[in-house]
Amino acid sequence: MLESIVIVGAGQAAAQLIASLVQDGFTGSVTLVGDEPHLPYQRPPLSKKFLAGELSFDRLYVRPAAFYEKAGTRLMLGTTVAQIDRQDHAVVLADGTRLPYSTLVLATGSRARTVPLPGADRPGVYFLRTIADVEALKAAFAPGRSLVVVGGGYIGLELAAVAAKHELRVTVLEQAPRVMGRGVGPVVSRFYERLHREEGVDIRTGVSVRAIEPGHVVCSDGSHPADLVLIGAGALPNVELAREAGLTVGEGITVDAQCRTSDPAIYAIGDCTVQHHALFERGLHLESVHNALEQGRIAAAAITGKPIPAEQVPWFWSDQYDVKLQMVGLSAGHDEAVVRGNPDQGRSFAVFYLRQGMLLAVDAVNRAPEFMVSKQLIAEHARLDPARLRDERVAVKDLKG
Ligand SMILES: Cc1cc2nc3c(=O)[nH]c(=O)nc-3n(C[C@H](O)[C@H](O)[C@H](O)COP(=O)(O)OP(=O)(O)OC[C@H]3O[C@@H](n4cnc5c(N)ncnc54)[C@H](O)[C@@H]3O)c2cc1C
Repeated sequence: MLESIVIVGAGQAAAQLIASLVQDGFTGSVTLVGDEPHLPYQRPPLSKKFLAGELSFDRLYVRPAAFYEKAGTRLMLGTTVAQIDRQDHAVVLADGTRLPYSTLVLATGSRARTVPLPGADRPGVYFLRTIADVEALKAAFAPGRSLVVVGGGYIGLELAAVAAKHELRVTVLEQAPRVMGRGVGPVVSRFYERLHREEGVDIRTGVSVRAIEPGHVVCSDGSHPADLVLIGAGALPNVELAREAGLTVGEGITVDAQCRTSDPAIYAIGDCTVQHHALFERGLHLESVHNALEQGRIAAAAITGKPIPAEQVPWFWSDQYDVKLQMVGLSAGHDEAVVRGNPDQGRSFAVFYLRQGMLLAVDAVNRAPEFMVSKQLIAEHARLDPARLRDERVAVKDLKG
């Protein structure tokens, strides 16, 4: 019988899966069901070049329409999957239509986390996850207007950077003692607080927001004028379909090394998953393009019986002003953070996170060479000499010694 794959969710992971299935010689049928009205698109530019008006709409798409046509993919966009009927091997669409599958792939991604704040549902309060979110936000973007960003994570800060460049008056309110606390170490957080202040953004840490009222945001340190408010409170994986179908779900949909869920006919890829990572010896729920692409490739290989691509070290990036931050590895459990360069001056340095001399992770600020070399060193479990890492006279390619 001809194999039929149904993919739920038309995001970056799904697009990669289809490309890899083509490459791996898959000959069955593929149906892509996505609730947004768009072809799979890249989200990173939403808070960067697309928001800034420096990237056109069509350049957001991962692949053009012609690619799916050539691949023979049946596109069902603007269509929501409401249920999985595992017994019958079918998904049920919101309108009741049933789509049979022999293999199902959940690529449902994540959604913006809402906050239980009084006034959070007022007009003028925005989120940043989809093209529709950006279009609504862009319409409100105008020089001189005041913007309050609730949450100093990377999306909130990227938006703050674009807004500051567009001459909005920007305040960032972060509840934690430092910005981007979930993603980077304290040295890097302090740098980003300085960077934003230098660019005219009012960064407040350790403040909790109490309510959003017309024209201002009330919080523990007083009230901040706000013509518009962006809630940047992180993301929540879309796991409900999987959970309701009885699949194993933890921090995301639990998948094995081949991206298979607890039902062998169902795979899951991208932001919606949690997967054991051999290098870090624990389950990881990652929200990154790199992870979406890697899992798309892995699932395609598993479905077509090709060798599974080797596991890679996770990485992530963020662009704010003229600064590119590249993060590779995971710093949790480090016992030493070694700084190369000066984070208190200028806009270029790197922090190496070590455990008993073994490199776990690097945050590289405008330091592409350190980032590139570290990817390899982390994968090799390299043990490094902190003195050499710190010493800028040692060339990056010689850091291993
Ligand atoms: C503003 C922003 C900036 C980012 N910047 C970066 C960055 O700089 N670097 C980086 O590495 N990552 C970045 N990310 C994260 C990155 O974009 C995500 O990790 C990536 O998009 C995950 O791809 P995905 O395919 O798993 O999920 P998604 O891209 O979220 O796609 C999932 C799709 O499935 C749809 N869907 C969900 N449920 C259903 C259903 N029941 N039926 C039909 N469709 C459904 C969703 O609506 C969505 O369209 C950013 C994200 C955002 C929002």
